[in-house]
Order: sequence, then structure tokens, then C-alpha cells
Amino acid sequence: MIPGRLLAALALALGLLTLPVAAAEPPLVRWHPARVHPGDVAWVHVRGVADSASVEGTLGPRALTFFPYAGGQAAVVGIDLEAKAEPQPWRLAIVEPGREPRRLDGRLTIHKRDFPVQRLTLPQAMVDLDPETERRAVSEGERLRTLYHTITPERLWRGRFARPVAGTEPATGFGARRIINGKPRAPHSGGDYAADRGTPVVAANRGRVALVGDYFFPGRLVALDHGLGLYTLYFHLDTVAVGDGDVIDRGQQLGTVGATGRATGPHLHFAVQLAGSRIDPAALLSLDLRD
Ligand SMILES: [Zn+2]
Repeated sequence: MIPGRLLAALALALGLLTLPVAAAEPPLVRWHPARVHPGDVAWVHVRGVADSASVEGTLGPRALTFFPYAGGQAAVVGIDLEAKAEPQPWRLAIVEPGREPRRLDGRLTIHKRDFPVQRLTLPQAMVDLDPETERRAVSEGERLRTLYHTITPERLWRGRFARPVAGTEPATGFGARRIINGKPRAPHSGGDYAADRGTPVVAANRGRVALVGDYFFPGRLVALDHGLGLYTLYFHLDTVAVGDGDVIDRGQQLGTVGATGRATGPHLHFAVQLAGSRIDPAALLSLDLRD
């Protein structure tokens, strides 16, 4: 009887068999950044998978959408500013044609982050709304929430995200627990850039204009859809230079800084949403995906 190994060697020599390439190697899964906090853009890089493979997965309740990146596949996921500091289970399935899906799982720890408390005094009419204005603000808020949960499957952005206004001062106030006229209100879900009225406001990255509006709290606004559930928001604009559906490149002007809506003076409120999670603009600007 011919040993199986010898048969295989013969078959290989005759070109009847091909060696299984890296099939036994477990895929490499790496989460970034090394320590994840509320307000972060986390991302996972899966390497060692065949080009023909597709990767699916979840982090806690969030679905992950993968795209080809640096010899593997990656997915970005938002950690909401009010996310609990606790381990979140992740699960991945690597699906290759003609094979059983390979399943991997683990835990990603969300570390605690303290946000400042901010006390503000505003004209009472901007806080206690009359019923009609209240209805308007609620319906505008719902429209924005619906937009943030609308996920375009195409990834429009590439490379780094840029500041939306010139300068070097970072945006302030992200995540601040707000007490307005003595009452606790929703936390501040964006970062504020101090700038003079008329200062150009530019797109942080490539995207499609998903909404141009004039809303009660945000004032004149532009929402850019970068794809895969990622949106950047530009509030309190004085003027708007783009229209719904326009595809905009990084650095292209969207409008100018103003003080429209509920604003105590001219500034840009810049906010980031990722599949409905409220993200720190500083985390988006330092995102280390490079392609
Ligand atoms: Zn703001």
C-alpha cells in the first residue's frame, strides 16, 4: 500500500493538487486605538484573509461594515459619548466561497472618560419653547436622527479628516454635560470652533450633501454623508454654498461661520455621527486610517 503522504507528493509533482495557501493561519484581528473611550471612532483591522473573503461582524449591538484596507479588511464603529465604560463583545465571521465560515470573537473594553460640566445662561425664550416652536424643534430633531441612521453602503471618504475651519485651536466643549438656566439638558454632542462671522467652512473629507436646512437649534446647517454611516455636521452657518446631493471634496467650501439658530455668538458647531453614535470631532481628525 502506498502511504497517503507519498500519494500526495506524487499528485503534487504531477500538478494534480495545489497546496492549501495559509488556510490554517488564523486571521489577525486588531482593534484601534489601543485604548477606546466614549466619543472615539474605533476601528478593527482583519488581516490574513483571502481576497475573495467577506467579513461580517458586530460590536455589542452595532453591525460592522467592512471595506478593503491595507492588505485586509477594516470597519469603523462609533463609541457614543454616553457609552458605558465596560467590555463590549465582538464577533466576526469570515466567509469564503466553498468553506465553512470562520468565526472569531473577543471583547473590546470601553474605558471611562470624564466630561466637563458646562453652565450656560440663555434667553428664557430659547430654552422654554412655545408649543409651536417645541413641535418644530422635535420634528427637526427626528429628521436629523433619521438621517444619522441612514447608512449609505458606499465609502466616499479617503485618508485623513481635515479641520473644517482654518486655525490651530482645537474644538471645545465636546460631551459637556450642560446645565442651561439651572436645568440639566442633553450633553453637547459636537465641538465648537470660535471664529469670526464670514470665516470659510470647508468639508472635512469627501462626501455627499445629505441635508441643507435652517433649523431652530442648529440654525443654517449642512450635513455631509461620507458613507458607511459616517456624517459630519456644520451648524450655525451664516451662508451656505452647496446644495442637496452635491458631491464635495475634502477642503471644498460649504459656507461661512455665523450665529444662526441657538448660538450665543459666531462659531462653528462641528459634529460627527457614526451610525447614530455621537463622536468627538477630535477623534475623527486623529483617525489613523491612511489610504
Ligand atoms: Zn456647539
